[in-house]
Amino acid sequence: MSDIASNIISIKKQVPGSVTVVAVSKTRTVSDILEAYDTGHRVFGENRVQELLAKKDLLPGDIKWHLIGHLQTNKVKSVIPFITLIHSVDSFKLLKVIDSEACRAMRTVDCLLQFHIAEEETKFGFSMEEAEDMLASEDYAGIRNIRICGVMGMATFTDDEGQVRKEFRILYDRYLKIKNNFFADSESFKEVSMGMSGDFKIAIEEGSTMVRIGSFIFGARK
Ligand SMILES: *Cc1c(COP(=O)(O)O)cnc(C)c1O
Repeated sequence: MSDIASNIISIKKQVPGSVTVVAVSKTRTVSDILEAYDTGHRVFGENRVQELLAKKDLLPGDIKWHLIGHLQTNKVKSVIPFITLIHSVDSFKLLKVIDSEACRAMRTVDCLLQFHIAEEETKFGFSMEEAEDMLASEDYAGIRNIRICGVMGMATFTDDEGQVRKEFRILYDRYLKIKNNFFADSESFKEVSMGMSGDFKIAIEEGSTMVRIGSFIFGARK
């Protein structure tokens, strides 16, 4: 068995069955992805639209593609026909563009709201205040073709487990608050996308329902 195949089997043994493993295939080749696919895995994540579009046509049609990286509004249209879940909605402007393109394509697109929880300035995402203001706004009430399925966040890149755990707790807390205040009747609002190769165990302890795993499966990126 290939390393990639045994790694993906290994990660699934380390994760409860209720938690979705998104195999993050950015920078990996089509044949790397096929090695994971051949174990039966179907959920893959990419962070760049260009790369996703280039690879997806060379791969089986039953892959569930998740977009996990920052999405520019001018790239939205190209992913709408096939994307399974967009983890990285980080502004109302982007949400509106996704909604109008989804409407034109006559589909409903599942999205997560990305929150800024890390100390680093560079990570995208809503603050709690921004998200609450948006969800309470009249403009948001006009959104028709998006289903908000939960939240996503990235912890600070650090060896300090306490810091990482604290940030995941903040995200889970925001998830609960938003669920109670805006999605109490929604059956779809149930995902907490947090945890990567280095911190997925902590993330699961703190309530993650979706882990995004790249290097653990495919090896270190160059
Ligand atoms: C690359 C990436 C991951 C996976 O990172 P690994 O440390 O390789 O597991 C997860 N989430 C996002 C948003 C990423 O860009």
